[in-house]
Amino acid sequence: MIQQKMEQAIQTLETFYGYSSFRKGQEQIIRSLLTNNDALVVMPTGGGKSLCYQIPAQVLGGTTLVISPLIALMKDQVDAVNQIGIRATFVNSAISKAEEHARLTQVASGEITLLYVAPERLYDPAFQNALKQTPISLIAIDEAHCMSQWGHDFRPSYLRIAEWINGLPYRPPVVALTATATPEVAEDICLRLGIDVNNQHYTGFKRENLTFRLLRGEKKDRFIMQYVEAKKGLSGIVYASTRKEAEQIYRQLRKQQTNTVLYHGGLTEIERTEAQEAFVHDEADVMVATNAFGMGINKSNVRFVIHANLPGTIEAYYQEAGRAGRDGEESECVLLYQAQDIQTQRFFIEQSNGELEKKENDFEKLQFMNRYAHTNQCLEQFILEYFGGSESEPCGKCSNCTKEGEQEDVTREAQMVLSCVVRMKERYGKSIVAQVLTGSKNKKIEQFHLNKLPTYGLMNKRTAKDVQAFIDFLLAEGFIGLTPTSYPTLKVLEKGAAVLKGDAKVNQYKEHISSQQNNINDPLFEQLRLKRKELAEKQGVPPYLIFSDKTLKEMATVVPKTNETLATISGVGAHKLELYGEAFLDLLRSTDIQVSTVISTQQKGKAKLNVDEAIQLYNEHKSPSEIAEELGFSEQTIIKHLIEAEKDGRASDVLKLVTEEKQIRIKEAINEHGTEFLKPIKERVGETISYTEIKIVMELGANV
Ligand code: ADP
Ligand code: ZN
Repeated sequence: MIQQKMEQAIQTLETFYGYSSFRKGQEQIIRSLLTNNDALVVMPTGGGKSLCYQIPAQVLGGTTLVISPLIALMKDQVDAVNQIGIRATFVNSAISKAEEHARLTQVASGEITLLYVAPERLYDPAFQNALKQTPISLIAIDEAHCMSQWGHDFRPSYLRIAEWINGLPYRPPVVALTATATPEVAEDICLRLGIDVNNQHYTGFKRENLTFRLLRGEKKDRFIMQYVEAKKGLSGIVYASTRKEAEQIYRQLRKQQTNTVLYHGGLTEIERTEAQEAFVHDEADVMVATNAFGMGINKSNVRFVIHANLPGTIEAYYQEAGRAGRDGEESECVLLYQAQDIQTQRFFIEQSNGELEKKENDFEKLQFMNRYAHTNQCLEQFILEYFGGSESEPCGKCSNCTKEGEQEDVTREAQMVLSCVVRMKERYGKSIVAQVLTGSKNKKIEQFHLNKLPTYGLMNKRTAKDVQAFIDFLLAEGFIGLTPTSYPTLKVLEKGAAVLKGDAKVNQYKEHISSQQNNINDPLFEQLRLKRKELAEKQGVPPYLIFSDKTLKEMATVVPKTNETLATISGVGAHKLELYGEAFLDLLRSTDIQVSTVISTQQKGKAKLNVDEAIQLYNEHKSPSEIAEELGFSEQTIIKHLIEAEKDGRASDVLKLVTEEKQIRIKEAINEHGTEFLKPIKERVGETISYTEIKIVMELGANV
């Protein structure tokens, strides 16, 4: 029984989502739910949590209830599910009473596979009535950490979920999902929902496709300008810790004519919504924002997140940086550290009106963030260890892992700065020290007789700004310190004293703007993106819901020219193939771009099916499953090709793979439900007939 259900699950993955295999954890979780067990799922953002309940929903039939606190996200989630041909809807305060009534009627008549609601809705009488008439086969609780007071986003409305479930006449399996639970929070969720501790599924916090970079004392503005220029056309977020700084960065990027929008708490709601919409719909490439932006943003093709300032906690940093690369494509997270960022964060904590204990806790968290900014350890490993992971390996790609061989001995320059600070009796700040070192003619310097110092003009080959940045680096590395006063002055610390005495060396790493390839250089990818945008506009959905960047990249690499090859691209399910296949094929067929130049190593690993070979085996009377095994592809893929081959006259009798009795049943179901959605047909014909068989009859049945 479970075997059969798991097969259906795999079929759903292939047919609806167009994916070839489950990701880490997904299969086990789905198996658990299909055997009527609960599950607590802790999986990082972008790990693929939604499939863990959407696929069982589809396999189980009936209605799956999805409880989520993020009303703003529901439409997006529902659009995404509808795009792949699964029936979903949401009921929340954003829709009219009439619309609510219409949707609940659909629910009551059992037409809806996935119903999204906020927890407040559970006790609504109209809602309860609708549910009485349809079996709830599964309950999914998204953002489940909201249920725990130990979590960072506790919501009282979440507490009543457990009580509501207990009041049901029967208890369907429950799946609670979150990206951010510490073991303590996870246990709390299990306790409240009555989930057996053995049903906890952790896939870790690691995000394989993210690369972390840390730049200390870099000239921030210049870096951001150059970086954004290098990534022109790609989506990215730049976070700043204050509104003022966000505005400044925004103005500069605008000057550079980048397609940038701004978002912070000081703007009107309309301004914010416009900015967000422009970003989500790929009309603006770069979003400059404070941390007010991001909650409930599902945009999957964010390729970089730059933090222009140090955030207050590792949790906040990982959450914000983690908005990059939800689609699993390589993405970068860059943190620009300046010594004064710590002051800003301290100020925020001091100004906050929490209790003393809370403030101390915040300071402690800030300390960890500060350590991150100074560590020589693998950055990813540092973060994972912070979240309680112990046996992680260095990632091999973050800016700390790749530093080797790029360092420069700057001991002499450091000694110049340090001795200058000493000569100036540790009474001046960064900018004056830099002016002395570069031999500035500033009146103040003469006035204080600083031009008489032996270190005056010692670094006159460099600009004052440049020297200031170098001082920032020495600050970050702990050679120099700042007094905690409103006019901070520089002090030589122990580590610096050792350098002055010649007992220690100073090495500085050279930083590069970016090693990551900018895919935008691929003209075909660019054309595909434009096509996607055009289709998205027509449909009124964000472009990434049509196809992800990952899918478009694969298309640009493989350049499919037929329906059958297009179907082998990851992310192209049956429904999307029908909706968008022709539009993309038109473009792909008209392209004369050389394919050979862009085949990536990843793509090489995944060999393309030799269709002729498959047809030949078929003509030798091998069954699709035998062919599948022999060629190393799924049966589903083989059959897709055979169907096309029959249409082209290269194969015959493919329809005979389905018995006549089954053909009749499928045709009856098609007559009744049409061919728009597979699901109702499947439900009508029952378990003994597979999706593949339906597909064959749908495609070839009319010809007989
Ligand atoms: P989460 O909710 O955990 O943040 P999602 O469920 O939104 O993650 O999934 C992130 C992305 O990964 C989506 O684009 C999704 O379609 C894709 N994805 C999920 N599972 C798979 C899979 N098995 N194979 C390929 N892509 C997948
Ligand atoms: Zn690393």
